Amino acid sequence: MTLPRIFYILFLFVFFTLTIIFTNYHNLSSSKQDDDDQQRERYKYEVINDNNNNFVVVNNQQQQQQQSNNNTKLFMTIEKLQNEIEQLRSRLEMIESKNVVVVDDDQRNRHSDKLSSNRKYFQKTKSLPYSEKKRILITGGAGFVGSHLLDRLLFDGHEVIVADNFYTGRRSNIEHWFGHPNFELLHHDIVNPLYVEVDEIYHLASPASPPHYMMNAVKTIKTNTMGTINMLGLAKRVGARILVASTSEIYGDPAVHPQSESYWGNVNPIGPRSCYDEGKRVAEALTYAYAKQENLNVRVARIFNTYGPRMHANDGRVVSNFISQAIQHKPLTIYGNGNQTRSFQYISDLIEGLVRLMNSNYSQPINLGNPDELTIENLAKIILNLVHSDNQNDNKKQQPDNHHKYIDYQSAKQDDPRRRRPDINLANSILNWYPNITLIDGLSKTIDYFRFELKRSLGG
Ligand code: NAD
Ligand code: UDP
Ligand code: UDP
Repeated sequence: MTLPRIFYILFLFVFFTLTIIFTNYHNLSSSKQDDDDQQRERYKYEVINDNNNNFVVVNNQQQQQQQSNNNTKLFMTIEKLQNEIEQLRSRLEMIESKNVVVVDDDQRNRHSDKLSSNRKYFQKTKSLPYSEKKRILITGGAGFVGSHLLDRLLFDGHEVIVADNFYTGRRSNIEHWFGHPNFELLHHDIVNPLYVEVDEIYHLASPASPPHYMMNAVKTIKTNTMGTINMLGLAKRVGARILVASTSEIYGDPAVHPQSESYWGNVNPIGPRSCYDEGKRVAEALTYAYAKQENLNVRVARIFNTYGPRMHANDGRVVSNFISQAIQHKPLTIYGNGNQTRSFQYISDLIEGLVRLMNSNYSQPINLGNPDELTIENLAKIILNLVHSDNQNDNKKQQPDNHHKYIDYQSAKQDDPRRRRPDINLANSILNWYPNITLIDGLSKTIDYFRFELKRSLGG
């Protein structure tokens, strides 16, 4: 072997040895780097919130532990919530099934002391399939008419929201539904906007008795104008059908008798009744402006004098005044000579008419009233007879035949309409509706209610 050759081989040997040594060293050092990184990562410290609002210093290992603790806690919370939902659902089912005890109004009134106070008693309501169940808003639902309408719509199986500011309405009119799954109460003044999602609106909010609507005339106008705009705006936004409660008062002191829907009325625009009469006339005008301009689906009921249980004993209307005066042996107050006439319909007839109108295809105004017309003096005599004829133990019995002794004639009220009687041919032909409760039957039921209420209010 020559010397250069030996050098060449030696060179190659040294070169390869050095290459191997270098590569190994590099691998070693990078794996050490990795190990160091992992070590560093494992022991990296962080400040975290431990969920109890304490800030603690933890390393990564602890952090992972913390994370898995958090997950466990989250699962436990979800489980707890699911349990609570289950409990609520079964409580709801209990209300709907076991706790629904069927009692009628009379039973509730007469046996209220015997009904368990720990249990909520609901009258049985229909169960409607989802496709037929509507969500309905009643404005003024805590009032006389509204509360009866609420009963009817809940019995029919719908969901009902009542919006009322309790200006003339009362909780006692609707409290028998508190807690029912289909009922919701909103303490709300409709002069302010209202945002709810509904299929239908019965817009009834407005004081209705003359002393009530005259008490704050400006508010009455606001409720019937601004309040009605809000309800029409709501109907427009959600595409709901809206029924607006108008009144026979839009005919004023009528020059046409009986009053049909085609009569335009005779209203004093600046008299004491104008806040109500003109308010309702504007409400009608607004309703038809929205119908034309916004293609709104509207109904307008012109309601004539209505009476029945849940009228306020102090609302100043003639039926409530006469009945409470007669029961308390006070003289019945007649304003004027008593020759003015009215036609009185019982509340259940009105409710039937309102529901039929809402469900009809008719969008023009329609009269709802009982055409059975009588003078106010006659009404006083009938009430005196009814109140005292069935009161066997009444020592201070009034003598209805000698009624002049028991009537107090006072001065006539300004702008008091002299005659009023609805022409209900339209309602009859379009809605197939006719009132069927006679004055005597309706008054008897109302007298029973007032006896009970007055006894309760006097603590008897
Ligand atoms: P009501 O006074 O017993 O009931 C009216 C209800 O509306 C009350 O609950 C009251 O608190 C509420 N209300 C008044 N202003 C409100 C407001 N700004 N926001 C929210 N709620 C308000 O009267 P009612 O006899 O039940 O009359 C109901 C409707 O029927 C009224 O629109 C009335 O004009 C009309 N109407 C009634 C008769 C009748 O003889 N009862 C006749 C004609 C028309
Ligand atoms: N409004 C309401 N609830 C709704 C929608 C509207 O109370 O869900 C009110 C709103 O405050 C408005 C009124 O209804 O002032 C009339 O509404 P509309 O849309 O006709 O009029 P605009 O909002 O254009 O004035
Ligand atoms: N009225 C009466 N005595 C009363 C209350 C009312 O004579 O205690 C008269 C009133 O003047 C009107 C009629 O009864 O002529 C009906 O009055 P209500 O207030 O019930 O309703 P209106 O139809 O006037 O809105």
